[in-house]
Amino acid sequence: MTVVPLDPASPASHAVGIDFDQTLVAHDHGWQDGRIYGRPIPGAIESLHALNRVRSVFIMTARPRRFHPAVARWLNRYTGLETIVDEDPERAYWQGDCLLVTNKKLGAAVYIDDRAIRFTGDWVAALTDARRAIGLPPVPHRTARNPEAGLAHRFPDRC
Ligand SMILES: [Mg+2]
Repeated sequence: MTVVPLDPASPASHAVGIDFDQTLVAHDHGWQDGRIYGRPIPGAIESLHALNRVRSVFIMTARPRRFHPAVARWLNRYTGLETIVDEDPERAYWQGDCLLVTNKKLGAAVYIDDRAIRFTGDWVAALTDARRAIGLPPVPHRTARNPEAGLAHRFPDRC
């Protein structure tokens, strides 16, 4: 299996998506009710400018929408770039010179995120990386004596 290549004709293949928390801004003292108190991670602002010169850039955040204006203000303060909050629930991609703040995973050529692992078409490798990222040991081997190995999950009563 190969990963679908980028389509130069598709606007969804052109933008760059950058995560906000712990990718652009350092929050070394925890969540603090969502207050954006951190400073830029070294190199973040220069890199953001470099990417914004060649591609449309959107900033991804899992934060609730009430925090998005503050994210936009922080970005404007440290980058000097015009920044807008995504108000379009149907938006699928971003093409623009200013920074878009969104909580949607829009189409992009690449995503930069402190929590991501790269999927290359190999689920064995991806599962190994994912288990490591969440603090689990490698997938245990199922045997005749241990047929349930690796199958248990922690939330059996949830849908
Ligand atoms: Mg993050």
